[in-house]
Amino acid sequence: MATKKWDSETDLIIVGAGLAGFCAALQASEAGVSSVLLEKTSNVGGTSGMSGGLFAFAGTDLQKEQGIDDTDERLFDDLRRVGGFKNDESIVSLYVRHQLATYHWLKAHGVLFGHPEASAGQSVPRSHHTKSAQVIEALAARLESAGRSTVMRKTAATRLLREHDDGPVEGVLAESNGRTTRIKARRGVVLTSGGFSRNAKLLATFAPLQIGVNVVCGEGCDGDGLLMAWKLGADLRDMAYVKSTFGNHPDSGSVRHLLLFPVYRGAIAVNKAGKRFVNESLSYKLLGDACLQQPDGLAFQVFDTTVMEKTSPGVLTFDFQEAVDDGYMLKADTLAALAGKIGVDPAALAETVSGYNRRIAGGETDEFGRTSMSNQFGKLVELTRAPFYAYPSVNVMLGTYCGIGVNDRMEVIDVFGATIPNLYAAGEVQGGFHGAAYMTGSGLGKAAIFGRVAVATALNSALGAA
Ligand SMILES: Cc1cc2nc3c(=O)[nH]c(=O)nc-3n(C[C@H](O)[C@H](O)[C@H](O)COP(=O)(O)OP(=O)(O)OC[C@H]3O[C@@H](n4cnc5c(N)ncnc54)[C@H](O)[C@@H]3O)c2cc1C
Repeated sequence: MATKKWDSETDLIIVGAGLAGFCAALQASEAGVSSVLLEKTSNVGGTSGMSGGLFAFAGTDLQKEQGIDDTDERLFDDLRRVGGFKNDESIVSLYVRHQLATYHWLKAHGVLFGHPEASAGQSVPRSHHTKSAQVIEALAARLESAGRSTVMRKTAATRLLREHDDGPVEGVLAESNGRTTRIKARRGVVLTSGGFSRNAKLLATFAPLQIGVNVVCGEGCDGDGLLMAWKLGADLRDMAYVKSTFGNHPDSGSVRHLLLFPVYRGAIAVNKAGKRFVNESLSYKLLGDACLQQPDGLAFQVFDTTVMEKTSPGVLTFDFQEAVDDGYMLKADTLAALAGKIGVDPAALAETVSGYNRRIAGGETDEFGRTSMSNQFGKLVELTRAPFYAYPSVNVMLGTYCGIGVNDRMEVIDVFGATIPNLYAAGEVQGGFHGAAYMTGSGLGKAAIFGRVAVATALNSALGAA
């Protein structure tokens, strides 16, 4: 008796219900196509749903309202520069080509954007603020009302299925509550399963420097999609650039980060010896590399009242005042007293701050080459006005930002450059976009844009704005 090959079938299988997965499924629904959206955990949202909610878009109405002059060209240049020119130009171009339409598409689907902030790697303010849980709720509601997608929670894809080597991917093997099921995908499988920060073996292979760094991300970030595609011969991209992020309070647990970036509003970073060690205007990933080299991997973001006045109430990584109120930020009336609170030699801290101030006032070259608050944006300020503040900061692994090799249509390519038919990857699971470092807002932006592109490619359809 012949065994039944498939338990169920659909047009597209989308593996992972974070932002990339929801955008992919919604794109499919709008094209009139059925999909199954698999989610291995009991909750949808993944890392996306717990993220800072900042999206990098350029040329938006919100930027224009604030008089911010941003363009596709500027965005492209920033992405390439932050990525150390190691990123794939064609994939960066793809992001830039579809970013504004995707911003409008998200808005049309109920995503609420707040005014743009400047953050790491941006030469103009372009981090469009959202509440990440609201983003996922809005897209999930739209998907449900569109009616063509089935979301299967607690169902993990475990293998990609195909008839023979080099043949098209035909479906997935999935596990739910100990039960195995085979689902056929008539038009293809889209991997949107996020990063691998929680997979100790993959970290040991690709990022041994990060072993032991605290991890904060979605609970399903085990690298499943990467492993499944790798088994089929998929190429891997940017694996040498896995980095942790600087600026997390050492008391943060593994669910909520306590990231704060006073450095991008003018603070300096000092180590336990009270000395600066880096150009603080660099991407927080590069600051993370530098911090890992310091004693105990620990630093302090030190600043004064002028910087404190730049606090942004309610903006997760820039609400300095909230950190004071919650007891995470140390505060003192003099620099010497602050040094005592953080256990740093007062004379060393005084020397560091006065040297820094002197160079700014005198227009001298900074010893670490710092000329701006963040990536050429913002004029530096002297740190002179009491009270003074210090935010203890270590690194945190938030994401891996590298992974499966794709072309500029989000088709997965193998180690020899051939496409693996009917297999697509988008979002954090996919490599080639960030290169050596990550610009704030481009993780969520990439998940939304490339999730949509993957489906448009699978269906051979166009991407609209709404
Ligand atoms: C604390 C924090 C703050 C951040 N803030 C920002 C920010 O402000 N701006 C920005 O651009 N980026 C930010 N990032 C990064 C950004 O959130 C991620 O790059 C992005 O959310 C990745 O989206 P994704 O859809 O690819 O993956 P995810 O959102 O992680 O979704 C992947 C989903 O796939 C599921 N899954 C995994 N394996 C399987 C399997 N085998 N079968 C079925 N399902 C599976 C997972 O459980 C998960 O739900 C932040 C990250 C963190 C941790």
